[in-house]
Amino acid sequence: MVASRTCEFVMADGSRCRAGPQRDRPYCFAHDPERTAEAAEARRLGGLRRRKEGTIAVAYDLPGLDTVAGIRRLLQIVSTDGLAMDNGVPRLRALISTAVAATNLLKVGEFEERLATLEAAVGQTRSNDDAAFPEEASR
Ligand SMILES: [Zn+2]
Repeated sequence: MVASRTCEFVMADGSRCRAGPQRDRPYCFAHDPERTAEAAEARRLGGLRRRKEGTIAVAYDLPGLDTVAGIRRLLQIVSTDGLAMDNGVPRLRALISTAVAATNLLKVGEFEERLATLEAAVGQTRSNDDAAFPEEASR
């Protein structure tokens, strides 16, 4: 059995930090008193990174990649930038990759639509079957 160690740092509310400690150290990276400066620098860089991501997302009107609309927007950006490149093998590869990704996105969208239609149809049938008097439910 593997014993799981946790960081020994005690939070302001008296609870223990639940992060895993560093190897051969009782604290996690964020709470190690010997690495305070490094942890502060890591937090600063993390903040800069998040701000930069936010600025770029606004500049490109990019909602994120967790929706079809977000992925579609990214592919639009890539294809526009790809078309603006000097002609050559890298440009053609980028455009072909974008076309393949866009085709897959269209397929997913089509499948989602068909699935929703099927689920709606099955849902109607089910609610009729579940009724105590199915003849009356469909009327
Ligand atoms: Zn910790």
